[in-house]
Amino acid sequence: MNTGIVFHNEYLKHKQIENHPENPQRLETTMEYFLKTQILDVVEQLNPEPASLEDLERVHSKAHVQHIKSLSEMGHGRFGVIDSDTYVCEHTYSAALLAAGGVMAAGEAVWKGELDNCFALVRPPGHHASKNQATGFCYFDNISIMVKYLQARHNVKKVFIFDWDAHAPNGTMGTFYTDPGVLNMSIHQDPRNFYPGHGFIDQMGEEAGRGYTINFPVPAGTGDADYLHFLNEFVVPRVRKFKPDLIAVAAGQDSHISDLISQLNVTDAGYASMTKTLMDLADEVCKGKLVLELEGGYNLKTLPATNHKILSTLTGIPPEKEIEGKILESTRTLLQKLNDSLKSSKLWQEGPDPVEADVPCEEKQK
Ligand SMILES: [Zn+2]
Repeated sequence: MNTGIVFHNEYLKHKQIENHPENPQRLETTMEYFLKTQILDVVEQLNPEPASLEDLERVHSKAHVQHIKSLSEMGHGRFGVIDSDTYVCEHTYSAALLAAGGVMAAGEAVWKGELDNCFALVRPPGHHASKNQATGFCYFDNISIMVKYLQARHNVKKVFIFDWDAHAPNGTMGTFYTDPGVLNMSIHQDPRNFYPGHGFIDQMGEEAGRGYTINFPVPAGTGDADYLHFLNEFVVPRVRKFKPDLIAVAAGQDSHISDLISQLNVTDAGYASMTKTLMDLADEVCKGKLVLELEGGYNLKTLPATNHKILSTLTGIPPEKEIEGKILESTRTLLQKLNDSLKSSKLWQEGPDPVEADVPCEEKQK
């Protein structure tokens, strides 16, 4: 397996306030672990370029990009605060450009066949950033920027985005909410009393995009068996039908059982099995083209090993154990509810392909 990673030292320069969970040590400890385990000997490291303004502005408004740039130029201080957990330092803008550029580089290398798959280890993360707003530790939505770049510059029409971060990807889903060319699915902790307060089952997309946004909000305590059940029973058959050109994963490891800011129970074995399931699915539907990008994951003691488990699975090392165990009753109930609401909305009915024709992406964007 020809597997890549993306990393850049600039990612370590973006620092929020002291003791912030989204800190440079997340990547420092991960890279140290990768060095120690010698996995870097068997993967190719890509050196990213910063995303251009044109790249950013396919997703974000010009005013938003300029706002982050000028806050960053001012550095820390009372002007540098966006909200109570999203700060800006003098390196935020340059790191965020390289994070978006890093995910773009991963997507491009996989799309061109230079790599089979790639794990972009970037920060700051992106999936909460919307067109006009930085929030939830995120400034620019890296995965959306990558998808729009591949659609604009390469012959990519349909992308499946799967988000296993503990938090719903309100930024990413907003970007593609009316777009049937991007199937967006997320499994996350129930947002009724959990950030970002979006990501409910009935948020399913609008207009032509209705049915192409899928939220699976699970209660605290949900773990490996439930995640794999959702993947195998719901996600895989629908992605087979959607037939994407590429699969992108917003890989937030804050659904880990040890994580500090969620109450979910996914273990390293669960992440390995999810990775393998998505690799097999990509083999089946899009010649194996699979890109992962780091979102959350805040326990410095466990995050490096979890990231390593995901990367080693991408290189072809099979998961050590099968995921077994009982499915929670809440998972069965939620899945029934999701299937019922798709059925009553007449979405995902019989038919060869929910996107009617291969519409060129230039036309689709009109
Ligand atoms: Zn998260």
